[in-house]
Amino acid sequence: MSGPNSDYDPVEVTPLRADEIARMRVEALAAIAAADSLPALKQARLEHAGDRSPLALANREIGALPPQARKEAGRRVGAARRDVAEAMVAATSALEAEAEATMLVTESVDVTLPYDRDPRGSRHPLTTLQERIADVFVAMGWEVAEGPEVEAEWLNFDALNMVPDHPARTLQDTFFLEPADAHLVLRTHTSPVQARSLLTRGLPVYVICPGRTYRTDELDATHTPVFYQVEGLAVDRGLTMGHLKGTLDHFAAAMFGAGTLTRFRPSYFPFTEPSAEVDLRCFVCRGLTPDVEHCRTCKGEGWIEWGGCGVVNPRVLVACGVDPDVYRGFAFGMGIDRTLLFRHDVHDMRDMVEGDVRFTRAFGLEV
Ligand SMILES: [Zn+2]
Repeated sequence: MSGPNSDYDPVEVTPLRADEIARMRVEALAAIAAADSLPALKQARLEHAGDRSPLALANREIGALPPQARKEAGRRVGAARRDVAEAMVAATSALEAEAEATMLVTESVDVTLPYDRDPRGSRHPLTTLQERIADVFVAMGWEVAEGPEVEAEWLNFDALNMVPDHPARTLQDTFFLEPADAHLVLRTHTSPVQARSLLTRGLPVYVICPGRTYRTDELDATHTPVFYQVEGLAVDRGLTMGHLKGTLDHFAAAMFGAGTLTRFRPSYFPFTEPSAEVDLRCFVCRGLTPDVEHCRTCKGEGWIEWGGCGVVNPRVLVACGVDPDVYRGFAFGMGIDRTLLFRHDVHDMRDMVEGDVRFTRAFGLEV
């Protein structure tokens, strides 16, 4: 076995010659400088800094050199590889920063553009008006009461002093549910909620009951088989017709503006005694001559019918377990549909139920 070749000159090993190393270094740095994108830089890294790159291959040759020649060759190759690695790091961070800046521009979002060109829906004005009415009474300390739309016949009629042969119980007015011996109806008014309130709540009672009601009417400009009512009931010691009038005046002012005049006309309801119809001063002619004579809104009356009211009939109190010698009450009921007609000058009931968005959209901002 021969000994180390002391005459071996590393300069003669082609890949390790100084000029060769310098050339590899220059080529590598040029390739890195020429890379104008991260994929191009990746290719330059493979070719000039990877395991099969000329400098890596030259580095392997060092091991084959005699020990006295390794130091100089190692220093030369190491310096070149370090320069290439540093250039690679610098180029990588520069290209990454550039790619990020480009992305910020190309993927930016203009937040001032309209984000949604689809028209928004709006809540139905009957719903928002119901809530507004409830707010008026909640502000006075009343509670909102709700009840089922499928109601027991007894609560819809008998508890309210409507005897079995009362005209409202005939088939022309009421939707009865099968089977007949279940004695269930679609409630014809929200009054059964009042009876339920008396039966379940402690006295005194101050409740407002807005809700959907049903009668067998044909749908036309002034009637609909499904309509909305709001009824109020107050039962306490010492209540009078004066409290009723004051409450309804406040309610009318909240719905139609301050100073809205109301009047009571004697009437009859089975569940109140005495009973009255509530009229509003006509908004169009204000009851003033000579305009009132030609007014189509009130038909020359000067007044518009709004609802009914009265002092709760003692028989209703007894049916609901309340002592009429100690407690008295008043009750009232108005059509919410009718109130909406007056408030917004709607002329046809059918507009409210046909679901045309052009009708509801006009109320979209009402909250
Ligand atoms: Zn009028």
